[in-house]
Amino acid sequence: MTTPNLTQQLQTYAELAIKIGLNIQPDDLMTLSIDIEQAPFAHLLVAAAYRAGARNVIVQWQDPQLQRLALRYQSEDELSTVLPHQETLSEFIAVQRVKRLVVMSSDPDTFAGLPAAKIAAYQRRDSQGIQAVKSATQSNRLSWLIIGAASPAWAQKVFPEASPAEATAQLWQAIFKTMRLDTPDPVQAWEDHRARLSAKAKMLNDYQFDRLHYTAPGTDLTIGLPRDHRWEAAGANNEKGDFFIPNMPTEEVFTAPDAKRVDGTVSSTKPLSYAGTILSGLQFKFAKGKVVEAHAEQGQATLDHLLKTDSGARHLGEVALVPDQSPISQSGLTYFNTLFDENVSDHLALGAAYPFSVKDGTSMSKLALQKAGLNSSQIHVDFMVGSAAMAIDGITKDGQVVPLFRQGNWVE
Ligand code: ZN
Ligand code: ZN
Repeated sequence: MTTPNLTQQLQTYAELAIKIGLNIQPDDLMTLSIDIEQAPFAHLLVAAAYRAGARNVIVQWQDPQLQRLALRYQSEDELSTVLPHQETLSEFIAVQRVKRLVVMSSDPDTFAGLPAAKIAAYQRRDSQGIQAVKSATQSNRLSWLIIGAASPAWAQKVFPEASPAEATAQLWQAIFKTMRLDTPDPVQAWEDHRARLSAKAKMLNDYQFDRLHYTAPGTDLTIGLPRDHRWEAAGANNEKGDFFIPNMPTEEVFTAPDAKRVDGTVSSTKPLSYAGTILSGLQFKFAKGKVVEAHAEQGQATLDHLLKTDSGARHLGEVALVPDQSPISQSGLTYFNTLFDENVSDHLALGAAYPFSVKDGTSMSKLALQKAGLNSSQIHVDFMVGSAAMAIDGITKDGQVVPLFRQGNWVE
């Protein structure tokens, strides 16, 4: 499988992630979270990081098989117990502003067939155990980046007809396309792409819409936006002022909704993978910001657990605009991985909002953020609502209606 060509492409991919995405600088500390079966790619990433001047790269090997065993044999109590070393490392990463690279490659069905209550306990423990690093990440105090890597188990979900080796090769090529590695100058391509997305964010920030109105088959939804909300796209600065791109690929322009001003109905348009389970055919009814009805064609038990996580789990924390014509969407693939699928279409997220989605939000207290309309929760789960049939209007405080999306794409 490792042809010279693939090795070369992986090398370019690693350089792009380290230099453009995470933007490693001399003397930086870095963590790399990656599945053990991606060891060859991990070596390229670590080498690229040291070449860029990293002082120390701490590798956190992941093993989906071990996770499955834990879920099978450990009690719900044990699964929800936070271990001291998890908290210690989390504190260290948060305090030292360690730059974080997460490589996602696991089978979207990793946890299929395991009890939903155990998966929920495990997810809860996981997010409590890394509370410090999570809050440093969500407020961009440290730089972070999530990218994808092809594994046979994941690739076979995306390309069910192909052999494991063929599917993996095809998924790598699909990932490279979304990363613009097929262009003559990927770095320049990313600069141009960033500039385009930033222009959209600026336009939306200048309007400061009071609310957005979504209409599509199965969707008629009004989403209030907080006062002084900030639309973001394709990158941010950490506390020190280092630029980074938190997700690669990325096609979205996003902000936080006012968690108390969401009304109407919305239907999901793509399946999503949550906690190793596939959820599809989601329908939500919102009243005063809260999910009052929730149905899933597939994954109802997992969805019910998800919504019970905490009081914020029934409210929205993100609203993101993505044109139906994005390169990821045009590939026509469903990746069963939110990193890719969220860039296929407009999406919303249940759960936590990012503090930087309102002006001065990163220096505001939790209570002040809540007052500003930003949701807080242990979870942040994106679901796709866009399609070629989607229309979105921005409505200003004085009632001016501005068409933003028609037939799924930006109104130019
Ligand atoms: Zn998003
Ligand atoms: Zn999101």
